[in-house]
Amino acid sequence: MLTDQELLRYSRQILLAQVDIDGQLRLKNSRVLIVGLGGLGSPVALYLAAAGVGELHLADFDTVDVTNLQRQVLHDTASVGLSKVDSALARLTAINPEITLQAHRSALDEDSLAEAVKVVDLVLDCSDNFATREAVNAACVAQGKPLVSGAAIRLEGQLSVFDPRRPESPCYHCLYGHGSEAELTCSEAGVLGPLVGLVGSLQALEALKLLAGFGEPLVGRLLLIDAFGSRFRELRVKRDPGCSVCGEHHD
Ligand SMILES: [Zn+2]
Repeated sequence: MLTDQELLRYSRQILLAQVDIDGQLRLKNSRVLIVGLGGLGSPVALYLAAAGVGELHLADFDTVDVTNLQRQVLHDTASVGLSKVDSALARLTAINPEITLQAHRSALDEDSLAEAVKVVDLVLDCSDNFATREAVNAACVAQGKPLVSGAAIRLEGQLSVFDPRRPESPCYHCLYGHGSEAELTCSEAGVLGPLVGLVGSLQALEALKLLAGFGEPLVGRLLLIDAFGSRFRELRVKRDPGCSVCGEHHD
């Protein structure tokens, strides 16, 4: 059940017919893993905490650096030098003491990643490198967990949802398996804060829809954001039957 405090705190979203009390209860009973507490993970963690997602599992092995602050709005100047997880714990608790937070402060290897994915309902990939994205995707496919994936670099953003519970859904590897510019990181190529904020906010929105159980998720579709021209485009993406991660003939 929801307490009076919770009914008040979440009243503006409970007002939506698509959310209502039942949707809010589903959010309260949800566990989510956020991989990466940087530019994408900042709005994701802030919005999911504020919305009352019951348990947030936070994974990042990095510390806050002054060059992060231009875009990683979860952290502040006083947090420079702290672990990003500890900085996030303080900020998220201040925003919403009603939720539970779990910390993963060290880098996740294959076993710990599988364990971390197993205990949650949904994963948000907010990392900044191809190897992590591939590992997170493989764990989500193996455990049948939906994955909300976002990326932003320079003035370009991308977003998609991969849901192995749906037979028609591609996985991250179907789409990006042959490598891409995802190899470049923001620290090398540059990026604008509001663009990662936009992509992260859209990831949070997709996660809330999936968890509360309403709307049309971005499954089988890749959203491309061109910040230079202020244009959004959408590509259809199909499952690759020969995919080495989600295909029929994988081990
Ligand atoms: Zn695949």
